[in-house]
Amino acid sequence: MADRKIGRRALMGRLAAAAATLAAGASSVAAPALAQARQRPAPRKHIIVIDAGHGGIDPGAIGLSGIYEKEIAFETTMLLAQTLEASRRYAVVLTRTDDEFVPLQERVARARAANGELFLSIHADALPSPEMRGASVFTLSEKASDQEAAALAARENKVDLIAGIDLSRHAPEVSTILIDLARRQTNNLSIALARRLVTELGHEVRLLNNSHRSAGFAVLKAPDIPSALVELGALSNREEERSLRTPSYRQKLALSLARSVNDYFDFVVKA
Ligand SMILES: [Zn+2]
Repeated sequence: MADRKIGRRALMGRLAAAAATLAAGASSVAAPALAQARQRPAPRKHIIVIDAGHGGIDPGAIGLSGIYEKEIAFETTMLLAQTLEASRRYAVVLTRTDDEFVPLQERVARARAANGELFLSIHADALPSPEMRGASVFTLSEKASDQEAAALAARENKVDLIAGIDLSRHAPEVSTILIDLARRQTNNLSIALARRLVTELGHEVRLLNNSHRSAGFAVLKAPDIPSALVELGALSNREEERSLRTPSYRQKLALSLARSVNDYFDFVVKA
């Protein structure tokens, strides 16, 4: 990438290529990461970032028995990490490795610094009614994602890289277009991931009605890493809380999540 000044024709070519890849449903976002990875020893493993929700002074939701969400999230994260690592297909990066308080933006920053290809945030809910129970999956809402892309364009225009593109080389309007392309691609991949998560979880455990939703979670706002947040179940429901405290139940959840990740790479990314 020696072209400090990029010509309009070359730029349009790149945009067209990016748009074509986008239309083909392939992973244009991953391409620069692949290029980087060629310098690393083979075989290349997919980098999965797993984010155990809450931690440290932030316990998250508190279960009926007094157990903290941060513990359920951490234990399940470790099981998932072990399962993924054991497949030798993935390199797992954790946003926290102990009972540490990590601000939400820092979690995203750690994922991006690690060149994460997938970001999974693990939580357990407290729902409004004690009867409500079931797992659910969130992706970033389009509106929140638009706002974040605009903010990123404004904030990181000077120095940062998104999807392997050095934004400092482009005029602000061009950066906005490039970020938007990357962001849309990321949204599509996040939704594809969420569908697989819902399917696999649904085979093993009960799902909340309307089990895939979107919201403005700060931790899902990396515009270039497909991301989903999983609520493993309700700590406010007596039965489900008991299940979530059981290691074998968490193992079942972790295996479902691992299968979703496999499916995602087999059928969505196809790499
Ligand atoms: Zn949470």
